[in-house]
Amino acid sequence: MAYDLVVIGSGPGGYVCAVKAAQLGLKVAVVEKRATYGGTCLNIGCIPSKALLHASEMYSHAAHGMDALGIEGLTPKLNLMKMLAHKDATVKSNVDGVAFLFKKNKIDGIQGTGKVLGAGKVGVTSDKGEEQVLETKAIVIATGSDVAGIPGVKVDIDETVIVSSTGAIALEKVPENLIVVGGGVIGLELGSVWMRLGSKVTVVEYLDTILGGMDGEVSKQFQRMLAKQGMDIRVGAKVTGVEKTKSGAKVTFEPVKGGEATTIEADVVLIATGRRPYTDGLGLAEAGVALDSRGRVEIDGHFQTNVAGIYAIGDVVRGPMLAHKAEDEGVALAEILAGQAGHVNYDVIPSVVYTQPEVASVGKTEEELKAAGTAYKVGKFPFSANGRARAMLATDGFVKILSDKETDRVLGGHIVGFGAGEMIHEITVLMEFGGSAEDLARTCHAHPTMSEAVKEAALGAFFKPIHM
Ligand SMILES: Cc1cc2nc3c(=O)[nH]c(=O)nc-3n(C[C@H](O)[C@H](O)[C@H](O)COP(=O)(O)OP(=O)(O)OC[C@H]3O[C@@H](n4cnc5c(N)ncnc54)[C@H](O)[C@@H]3O)c2cc1C
Repeated sequence: MAYDLVVIGSGPGGYVCAVKAAQLGLKVAVVEKRATYGGTCLNIGCIPSKALLHASEMYSHAAHGMDALGIEGLTPKLNLMKMLAHKDATVKSNVDGVAFLFKKNKIDGIQGTGKVLGAGKVGVTSDKGEEQVLETKAIVIATGSDVAGIPGVKVDIDETVIVSSTGAIALEKVPENLIVVGGGVIGLELGSVWMRLGSKVTVVEYLDTILGGMDGEVSKQFQRMLAKQGMDIRVGAKVTGVEKTKSGAKVTFEPVKGGEATTIEADVVLIATGRRPYTDGLGLAEAGVALDSRGRVEIDGHFQTNVAGIYAIGDVVRGPMLAHKAEDEGVALAEILAGQAGHVNYDVIPSVVYTQPEVASVGKTEEELKAAGTAYKVGKFPFSANGRARAMLATDGFVKILSDKETDRVLGGHIVGFGAGEMIHEITVLMEFGGSAEDLARTCHAHPTMSEAVKEAALGAFFKPIHM
């Protein structure tokens, strides 16, 4: 059987590319080495972490957040195994959903490890050691990413005491103390989960700020909010050692600027220092497929590698390691392979940190606009001045809109606050259509909603907010 397209990897990049290509009439196979489809995101990433974030947030709310609303006397009892079962059930329904989509779209799902044998040929070795070669017009590499270690430090991740995110979503006991190495999205999300369930959490971050790359004002305020919740955050700290002890593990770090080293101990250490593109065993060197200096598969503007007929998308190529970026690349590539015009607008990719409050951002940060010498206007509106936020006791945070000083076109939007991850999309759609702060400010928003703060921030960038 010859295919139009063989996709290696069934994460958000691979499975979405396969479904779209099949919808456009191509004959498609997907090779996946895991027992279930859905990749990192559905199995051990986005989906299980959000199940735990939601459940732990409900727990913490029931324990601490209801008195002021007149709901007293709640003393929730944690059943961690049941919470983990909820997470596992959520994963199962999502990965089963991908299997259903493959069936519906007549996509051949093939269990096994794929290897690129050259343009037009993919070798597959199943778990049982059976081998086959698939013939295809096009190959899509969508093999994603894997946990990166700490540069220059040997760390023995055993997924019970020293864990990656994979172990951190499956701990069967709430650690008394948890050290998180890395103050990025994954570290702060999973640190929040265990902090809400009772752990004393210490975050050790190399940079001067958590959430490096986010708008500076946003990350500063957010750091204060997490500290208020009880997270001990040490920034500007270089980790030089992570070792197991009799009772847990210890982490040694020193100020990046130089100075004395500190060692702290915990029962669990989470290594959340980022992810690396995953191309192990794919045979790319033998097939002549070029990687860049950071180990990512090099592609052109149409996702094609240096070898004709071999393409790559998702975490394994340049750009933010986000599921929706991988999905959009999958759709665009399927369209290109079907003879249509596929395109991804990399200037308008939202990103969300699913903590409480949430942090969401799209487009440029103020620091990026300054560095590029762009003349810009800023509109800001705090949730403390929003009626719905007051009613919900969700007044922490603000909306910030950045627009071009000359044209008023919105260049970036940043939100810290309850529901930020949903609200960011109105700014995203506006930016996709090249809208201005005035457009956003003149769009009628239902009252009372948190989203009115977005409108008010836009009013602030365009002229003046009303309610401040
Ligand atoms: C804890 C955590 C939380 C996250 N939360 C979010 C979030 O909330 N939002 C978000 O946007 N992103 C999140 N991410 C990132 C997101 O998971 C990735 O950006 C996304 O999964 C990338 O999709 P992908 O298709 O490129 O690769 P992956 O999802 O990594 O899928 C690659 C697949 O390829 C398979 N594979 C690899 N090599 C082979 C081979 N040789 N043969 C066969 N199969 C192979 C792998 O088994 C895997 O299933 C999170 C990540 C983690 C770890």
